[in-house]
Formats: sequence, structure tokens, C-alpha cells
Amino acid sequence: MKLLNDQLSNAPLLNSPLLNDYASKLDELRQQGNLRQFTSNVQQGRMIEIQGQQMLNLSSNDYLGLAADLQLREQFFDETPNELRIMSSSSSRLLTGNFPEYEQLEASLSQAFHGRAVLLFNSGYHMNIGILPALSDSKTLILADKLVHASMIDGIRLSSAKYVRYRHNDLKHLQKLLQQYHTDEAFERIIVVTESIFSMDGDETDLAELVRIKQQFAKVMLYVDEAHAIGVRGEQGLGCAEQYAVIDQIDLLVGTFGKALASVGGYLICHPVIREYLINSMRPLIFSTAQPPLCMAWTHFIFQKVLGLKQQRQHLQQISQNLQQSVQAKGFDCPSTSHIVPVIIGESQKTVEKARQLQQAGFYIMPVRPPTVPKHSSRLRISLTSQVHQAGLEQLVALL
Ligand SMILES: *Cc1c(COP(=O)(O)O)cnc(C)c1O
Repeated sequence: MKLLNDQLSNAPLLNSPLLNDYASKLDELRQQGNLRQFTSNVQQGRMIEIQGQQMLNLSSNDYLGLAADLQLREQFFDETPNELRIMSSSSSRLLTGNFPEYEQLEASLSQAFHGRAVLLFNSGYHMNIGILPALSDSKTLILADKLVHASMIDGIRLSSAKYVRYRHNDLKHLQKLLQQYHTDEAFERIIVVTESIFSMDGDETDLAELVRIKQQFAKVMLYVDEAHAIGVRGEQGLGCAEQYAVIDQIDLLVGTFGKALASVGGYLICHPVIREYLINSMRPLIFSTAQPPLCMAWTHFIFQKVLGLKQQRQHLQQISQNLQQSVQAKGFDCPSTSHIVPVIIGESQKTVEKARQLQQAGFYIMPVRPPTVPKHSSRLRISLTSQVHQAGLEQLVALL
């Protein structure tokens, strides 16, 4: 922070109209209270320290506490000799970057996901901006839930498909659109795009019903992003698709390793033909250096552990349900059915002030405002991890 300010004040005076333009846009953001900045922090277990203030971290995506687990890290490095601590793949997988670690991770994922084909990506963002453009053409229609993540919106924008949004989590509306477009000869393929657990409301799609609807329409493929559900839902943590027993019915089942899996990267579960087609057409896969083999080995190590973390998943579910109920009992709107629990306040100023108070009281909770969420629905976004105890949450609820 300090350094950044020094950098700004030591910068040469603005003399270019090009820079002036950006500077005045930044000023505008600052005045609206919408300027984004990095804050440095130190994390230890379930705690986070920012500017000397120790807080319970309720803004983390480390849903199973694995990124914070020092013993796991130690075990991994003990088991991984120096020759295998390879820090760069030095090229795309299509050149020399396809190390055995990639194939091991794909094989393990495939085994867990009923033998389906698996393809890995450098990040969930790469995955979502790459797959949709590769699989779409001008005869493709994409029907997307109104609240899908920015990475899917960007993927849709990069594609040549026509794009229509359906009302958030409104499968009746989706069904109506499908009836309307399915007979339209302009479209040879319709891709329905959704998340399983949504990142801002913490609510979830009824995947069983979604699959049932899809099966009525021959041209439809389903694309489901499990970023917030992988590791957290299902007996083995394979996501909502496992929980609702529809792993084999989702054409394009994607997720990230960057959240509960304490690593980095994205994955797709699909048909082998789709995998081969993407290897031949997906630009972020072809034109970017593959992740370091060491990261692959770590993801593999973590994935094996995650399959058995039933107790952590149960604890997370228990504290999530308790918190949802307490927030509702306090009279707040709370659509959540998951470990992401928003407390919808409404006006931005009030939300920012409330978040500041809670931070001072030792709870690291961030305010979320428009345009990230709709107008008049500013909220505190509480994101629970299995490391959080019930007692801490009771203190928090008392302060709401
Ligand atoms: C976080 C997130 C992503 C992006 O994944 P990264 O691996 O962080 O790039 C994609 N989709 C959803 C729904 C997410 O929440």
C-alpha cells in the first residue's frame, strides 16, 4: 500500500492526454467508493491479518482448509524428490509440456468420474473462455443463467454463438426458451450454461431437474461449472453432480482446483471426442505454456486426500445450515443453501459500514456491491470453511 502511494507521488507529472484519461477514470471510481486495490495480508490457519488487525477469515475459498494446512505441504514435499520438483513445463502440452504428472492427474480424475474423459487447463478462467468458443459456431445458441460467472460471460462473448440469458435459477423459463428455440432451424446445437452453486447468492441449481429437461431436447448440451462445489459436495467431494447422481448426464462438467482443492487449474469431464476436439481447437490450451509439473503433482496429491474428507464436508454443511438459519432468524434475506452465505443489506453505504464494524470486531467479511450484484442488493458475503467453529459464528451472528 505504502509503496504504491510512493510510486504514484514519485511518478512523472502526467503530460499525456492518454494517461490523463485513465487518471480521471480512476478518480471517478475513487469518489464513488468503487476503487479496487490490492491489500497485503498474512494468513495463518483460519486467521488473516491485515494492517495489524487479526481476524477470523470469512472471505476464503479454501473451503476445506487444505491450502492452510502446513502438515499436508510438508508431507507432499517429503514425498516429492528434488528431481520431480519441476517448476516449469516450458511449453504447451502439444509441444514438450506434456509431463507424466499431467497424465497421472487426468487418469485419477477419470477414474473418480466414472471413466469419463478428462482435460486439464491452466485455470478455471482459461477453461471458461476457451471451451465455449471452441465448441460454438454461428449455428450454436447458448442459453445461460443470468448470474453465471464473468469467465463464462467472456467465453460467450469470444464465441460466434447467439446468446440468450434465462432468469436466475428459473428452470421453467429455461424450458420455455428451449421449446421456443429447439425447432428453429437456424440452430444445430444449444448449449445450456450454468453453475451448480452460485458464488454471490450461495444458492444452487436443481441439477437433477436440469438433466431431466435436457433429455427432452436432442440438440441440447449441458455445461455446468462446479467451481464452488468440487471438494465440498458429494460423498467423495466430486461436486453437486455426484450428490445428485448425474455425473454421466452432464456433457461438459467443469471446475477449478483453485478453491477447495488448494491448488490452481481447471478441469473438464466430457466425452473423449470433445476432449480430442478441444486439443485441436481450444486456443488457451494450444497457445499457453502448461502449468508446472510440480503444480500437477500437488493437485494430484490433494485430490487423493479430498476423496476421503467426508468429516470436513459434514462439518462445513452443519455450520452452513446453522448460519443460514441464524441469518434468516435475524430478519435478513438469505437465499443460500450452501457454505456461501450472503447477508443482504440493500444499500451500499450501509453494507460497507457494517462490513467495517465486523472487521473491527475480528471478522474478515467483505461487502459486495453493484455492479457485481444487482442494485439495492448490496450484501455481506460470508464464505465458510471447514476450519471455522460454531462458537465463532455465534459471536458473529450476535453482531449482525
Ligand atoms: C473462481 C471461478 C472461476 C475461475 O477459476 P480460476 O481457477 O480461479 O481461474 C470460474 N468459474 C467460477 C464459477 C468461479 O467461481
